[in-house]
Amino acid sequence: MASNRRDQAVRAAVDQALLTGTEPVAALLDVTGVRASAAALRAAFAAVTDAPVLHAFAVKASPLVPVLRLLYEAGLGAEVASPGELALARAAGVTADRVVLDSPAKTPAELREALALGIAVNADNPQELARLDALVRKTPTRSPLGLRVNPQIGGGTIEALSTATATSKFGIALRDEGARARVVRAFLDRPWLTRLHTHSGSQGLPLSLLATGVREVYELAEEINAAAGRHQVDTIDIGGGLPVNFTSDEETPTYAEYARLLSDEVPGLFDGRYGLVTEFGRSLLAKHGTLLARVEYTKTSGSRPIAVTHAGVQVATRTVYDPIAWPLRIAAYDARGLPKAGGPPVGQDVAGPACFAGDLLAVQRSLPLLEPGDIVAALDTGAYYFAHHYTYNSLARPGVYGFVTGEDGTVRFATVRPPQTVAEIVAEAGGGHPDALLADWRHPAGA
Ligand SMILES: *Cc1c(COP(=O)(O)O)cnc(C)c1O
Repeated sequence: MASNRRDQAVRAAVDQALLTGTEPVAALLDVTGVRASAAALRAAFAAVTDAPVLHAFAVKASPLVPVLRLLYEAGLGAEVASPGELALARAAGVTADRVVLDSPAKTPAELREALALGIAVNADNPQELARLDALVRKTPTRSPLGLRVNPQIGGGTIEALSTATATSKFGIALRDEGARARVVRAFLDRPWLTRLHTHSGSQGLPLSLLATGVREVYELAEEINAAAGRHQVDTIDIGGGLPVNFTSDEETPTYAEYARLLSDEVPGLFDGRYGLVTEFGRSLLAKHGTLLARVEYTKTSGSRPIAVTHAGVQVATRTVYDPIAWPLRIAAYDARGLPKAGGPPVGQDVAGPACFAGDLLAVQRSLPLLEPGDIVAALDTGAYYFAHHYTYNSLARPGVYGFVTGEDGTVRFATVRPPQTVAEIVAEAGGGHPDALLADWRHPAGA
């Protein structure tokens, strides 16, 4: 997010008591920035094709209803991968024509519901196609139906997020012996199968590799259509995966760059014959989120300064468990929410509140020496961070607040998600039936 807007918002979050001694963690979302990213995405593809494009936001990147609503109002849809995500999209008012269901483990009930709603479904494997066969035979559906393929183009720098490797669990592995012919056959046997889907991975994949994956899928569509003698595959879902720059405030690479690269590398995909679906997640939200946490104590250990804050593994799970792959920028503010001045920067650890040694947001980070009451801000955390709570130590989910800054420097907040209360933690932990395990185990249940 723009650093001036961030500074204004941090100051206002303190002034307006979103971040306090008793509410020591809060997450901020820059609504202006989110809108700008959504507009940039739409403009980037509109500049390279006249064909219809559905930009389905990958709900897993920020599973918050008001965020989905904001993106819907900005012209986007929703890519969902579980009953929960579908329910969130529906609660946000996302219409069926803008929803795409992609999970690799859809149950028969989920498939039935999706087809009844008319939302797009991408099948993952031949067994799922067989389930769709049975459903489609029984009742015709409005749902556009597709098949996910894995072009096996290789991975990026983060193994766990590379979905187009030789042995990825997603889609039909195109380069496996005989697989390509079986995919073509699957389409010829199913006139209702009209889409191809691929998603090569998230973060750590170079644009050129993403483009190679898209080209492979485009070529497969051409092959299927030639074999069918008609334009059977009419839409290609190119997935998401635009990487995010976690090292500065710059938003690079841009959607415009990626769309231009795709239209250079795969011109046939943009000549108007194919509708497009995209599924970007991280790149729409990451730069617009800031996680704030108060410093509770400071100390030294082995002569290293350590600031013990309230943000750790519960809100920055990936960074804590895999700090090399997911480093986060940290900014320091004082107790009033002003950028922390002070002496020369000092290497210090920024620790979280959880009870294990690895619960660190940053190690040996050069920052003005932190003091109790100061605020640390973990930047670029709008996707896959504060909205992805991990319940270690029964730490509460922080409140999430959207904000808009006025010309005069005023900042207005809206609650996206209120902070979780301790009573809610107890209730979600079986607090309503503490005697459950003291039942009379000698008799069968219900007897
Ligand atoms: C996670 C995921 C996305 C979004 O990836 P980003 O890196 O957040 O853009 C899109 N499509 C599918 C199928 C996914 O699993």
